[in-house]
Amino acid sequence: MEMPQPNLEVLRKKLEIVTALLEVLPREAVIDNPAETKAYECDALTAYRCPPMIAVLPSTTQQVSEVLKICYHHEVPVVPRGSGTSLAGGALPTVDSVILGVAKMNKVLETDYENRVIKVQSGRTNLSVSGAVEEENFFYAPDPSSQLACAIAGNIAMNSGGAHCLKYGVTTNNLLGVKMVMMDGEIVEIGGSYLDSSGLDILGVICGSEGQLGVVTEATLRILPKPEGARPVMIAFNSNEVAGTCVADIIKAGVLPVAIEFMDRPIIEICEKFAKAGYPECEALLIVEVEGSETEIQDQMDRISSIAKRHSPIELRQSQSEAESAAIWLGRKSAFGAVGQVSDYMCLDGTIPVSALPQVLRRIEGLSKKYGLKVGNVFHAGDGNMHPLIMYDANKDGDLALCEAMGAEVLRLCVEVGGCLTGEHGVGIEKRDLMEDQYSLNDLEVQMSVKDVFDPKWLLNPAKVFPLSASENRRLG
Ligand SMILES: Cc1cc2nc3c(=O)[nH]c(=O)nc-3n(C[C@H](O)[C@H](O)[C@H](O)COP(=O)(O)OP(=O)(O)OC[C@H]3O[C@@H](n4cnc5c(N)ncnc54)[C@H](O)[C@@H]3O)c2cc1C
Repeated sequence: MEMPQPNLEVLRKKLEIVTALLEVLPREAVIDNPAETKAYECDALTAYRCPPMIAVLPSTTQQVSEVLKICYHHEVPVVPRGSGTSLAGGALPTVDSVILGVAKMNKVLETDYENRVIKVQSGRTNLSVSGAVEEENFFYAPDPSSQLACAIAGNIAMNSGGAHCLKYGVTTNNLLGVKMVMMDGEIVEIGGSYLDSSGLDILGVICGSEGQLGVVTEATLRILPKPEGARPVMIAFNSNEVAGTCVADIIKAGVLPVAIEFMDRPIIEICEKFAKAGYPECEALLIVEVEGSETEIQDQMDRISSIAKRHSPIELRQSQSEAESAAIWLGRKSAFGAVGQVSDYMCLDGTIPVSALPQVLRRIEGLSKKYGLKVGNVFHAGDGNMHPLIMYDANKDGDLALCEAMGAEVLRLCVEVGGCLTGEHGVGIEKRDLMEDQYSLNDLEVQMSVKDVFDPKWLLNPAKVFPLSASENRRLG
């Protein structure tokens, strides 16, 4: 992975920069010892690593502002970081950078059940937002599988989704406002505690901007009353293609499940061995979850079952109890961990039109044979967000390069069928060099001119999102 040349002047001034940071932060919030900065050398895309020059852990928006003023003055690149679970290398440091971690900023600032909003500091983890309101029977809807660890900051930066986003939308549909610190230290508030504030949709630009435009320190989020109940139907097929067609038919029929999850044979086998969830022997498994009152649940389950039966499933199991629901979800929820136990893997994240599912799955199978690498597919099928997991051996020379080349072909395939490079994990460094496969240079120029406005010196989260060649003139000033 090509990274830009470090700014030697910045490296030379490290001591001066640390001294300035210690004037605005307590000693324990400034990490400059190489043995300790190593802890920040990567995120969940562990194939790429680089310790930062310094890491800082502020506790307030004011401290973030002071840190950014210092970095702006010394022209130090800054990499914002939440919990470091990005699968796209979004929080990968450069050797001359300051990592600005918001993990200590995890307080709930305000809950307003009447207007269904919660305001939190951005380092709060996704699951603990729901945890803060569950006593009142509310929840925060976007549910990345990493929700126990990932922070709202990273969710906003990546516009994260999850299994239940088919019904509730992704982060952008549940974000009402942010407090953000600009690279020069200015503190701004965007949006408010209601949907669709007036003027240009700047909040829409911030959500999904991958740490390129500012450091988000607070977020106002929509919370929802918990549904009365939810239950899944598990449907097993003897062909990926038929399962894909079944998904397209469920969507076409206008039923709106909360989730439609898809697993293919390699994933089913690995998950079953790991979690003993009781999955049948089959080529493809769908988990379709519906929610509402008992009558609504049964009605939707029956409609889904009757659509599925037209495709001759080899097994169809409607959950009738909490225990059965937990068993059906158990394997799916442990999928990434289970694959990690048997192999190194790269998790892709392309999005395709739902109707293209059967064709794309067939072509991925062909690519798996061409590259000699095993692939498992597990994904949010309802909204066409695919997660092929390409398995490789990190200790075998050339295997990572092979895996990267195959990953690039899969993502180009997503673009070719009318989809896009990323559904929820973001571009980061992982897909940076593929951006030209989706966008013309003119398109990229327009996107980069937005960054020019927010971060004119191009110091925020360097070397991500935009291909290095396209951003070279701006980065080098
Ligand atoms: C096992 C596993 C399962 C996952 N499942 C899902 C899933 O179902 N859905 C999904 O969408 N993702 C998933 N992810 C990916 C990841 O969890 C999300 O991208 C998450 O939102 C990242 O949050 P984070 O706090 O860890 O961010 P980080 O990894 O720390 O950073 C991610 C990006 O956000 C930027 N950033 C961080 N903090 C700020 C800030 N304060 N201001 C501005 N920018 C900031 C960073 O610079 C970086 O570009 C999964 C990851 C793992 C490891």
